[in-house]
Amino acid sequence: AKEQSSEAAVLYSEGLLEVTSSRRYLGRRVPAAVAGGEFELQYQPQSSLRSSAVVGWEALVRWRHPVLGLLAPDAFIPIAEANGTIVELGTWVLRHACHDAAQWQEPARIAVNVSAAQLVDADFVPTVARALADSGLEPHRLELEITESTLIAHRRDVIEKFAAIQAMGALIALDDFGSGFSSLDTLLAFNFDRVKIDRSVLQSSLQPLRTRNVLRAILALGHALTASVLVEGVETEQQRDLLRTEGFDEIQGFLTGAPGIGPKLRAMLPA
Ligand code: C2E
Ligand code: CA
Ligand code: CA
Ligand code: CA
Repeated sequence: AKEQSSEAAVLYSEGLLEVTSSRRYLGRRVPAAVAGGEFELQYQPQSSLRSSAVVGWEALVRWRHPVLGLLAPDAFIPIAEANGTIVELGTWVLRHACHDAAQWQEPARIAVNVSAAQLVDADFVPTVARALADSGLEPHRLELEITESTLIAHRRDVIEKFAAIQAMGALIALDDFGSGFSSLDTLLAFNFDRVKIDRSVLQSSLQPLRTRNVLRAILALGHALTASVLVEGVETEQQRDLLRTEGFDEIQGFLTGAPGIGPKLRAMLPA
């Protein structure tokens, strides 16, 4: 309680409403919060359109801050990326997600977000190998989600790291495709196992026919590159039916489940 009140005082003196200083404060606290167990993971299902079965779960981090309450990733990931503490947080997320998935009753995939600073870190590939070995998770059940902006700056290094990770048996997904400056060049330069289409494509303000044409083109491109194609942000049955008709592989979104506790644990099975 003493620590909480001094934290509240810090927040107060820096000014909760003063965005920059409280952001800096949060960023500085990331390593201590990792050590103190303040982060937790929620899991959102990824479903096959063909079978409707859940085939994977994306790990989404939350910060249960002692004073500010439950914080969404947008409130701290960008700061942690800016000050470098994302490497430590990201390693915790990776290890925790692998550990959790190894305890699930079902052998579903676990998808983990990876930031640029983690990927370029010299220790990244060994960190992934250790997370797999220490958790006992079968490598083919781990998928790393990487956004395109990460790839552009460090192309050579990243191509080699992808190859090393895929050689272990784990999978690589391109995240948020279609959200900004996606280029054909990126898709061609890297070997992705999956392409995740950003929800902005589905929820765009284009006429339905044009959205459909854009989706169709992206699907053809993904399949031409031998990647499986998942669409994010699916909220309605109408959207799901369209995507199924068009031949997409997987969907993720509020229709099939919001982020939550994830699959049942093996420990909960009756003996
Ligand atoms: P993302 O990787 O694109 O994750 C999907 C986000 O979309 C999640 O937000 C999820 O709750 C939200 N979402 C899912 N389905 C729907 C839907 O049907 N409609 C709408 N409107 N939204 C939907 P969340 O959990 O707030 O995460 C936001 C972002 O934070 C993630 O976007 C990801 O970029 C980042 N993030 C989350 N966890 C981690 C992490 O462990 N490491 C890193 N580096 N980034 C993370
Ligand atoms: Ca993601
Ligand atoms: Ca995404
Ligand atoms: Ca491929």
